[in-house]
Amino acid sequence: MVATVDFDHLGRPHTETELQCPQCDKNIHLGEEVVVLRVIRPEGFDPATGVTFSDFLDEEEDDFLYTPFTFHRACWAEVFTDYEESIKDDKPVLAAGGVVECDGCTSDIMRGEVTGLVTPGTLVLSRRRPNGEPALGLSAVTASLYICIACLVGINTSHLEMWEGLSQDGECDNGLKERCWRTGCQHKCKYSD
Ligand SMILES: [Zn+2]
Ligand SMILES: [Zn+2]
Ligand SMILES: [Zn+2]
Repeated sequence: MVATVDFDHLGRPHTETELQCPQCDKNIHLGEEVVVLRVIRPEGFDPATGVTFSDFLDEEEDDFLYTPFTFHRACWAEVFTDYEESIKDDKPVLAAGGVVECDGCTSDIMRGEVTGLVTPGTLVLSRRRPNGEPALGLSAVTASLYICIACLVGINTSHLEMWEGLSQDGECDNGLKERCWRTGCQHKCKYSD
């Protein structure tokens, strides 16, 4: 995380950071329990380290294609519990060769799919200083959770809008539910006419 922190005249960091929780719109303070939500692409599974992944990058801007968000942990729980309630009657979409299971709907997530990575921890000043500037990091990190593209789009469209144009391949809602790209639905989506 590159958000920086101001210091007072004695060199002590102000605990209020520039990071804003997208659920309550309040700034997050150092020492608070947070989750960081990033959009990633799973590459595989390593028995020693777990899911390996890469980022979606905006080559022109030299930055993340989908901005990562930091939530108060309780605020994220609020969003996610609401969402889970809305899908409680849905069946998971199972697939052979899945990399990891979605924490929301328990569907399988495949290599290369747009996926939410949820990392819980405590917001701290990082010991690393990229470019010599103080930076933020997480300590006391606990196991990350993964959220499939259908849940990520579901949260983004009906609970909390975070990203524009979030999709695997420009698919429609039916294609998204079915994961139509897995069966060679090259968009131009088969549902579109
Ligand atoms: Zn919040
Ligand atoms: Zn899901
Ligand atoms: Zn399609």
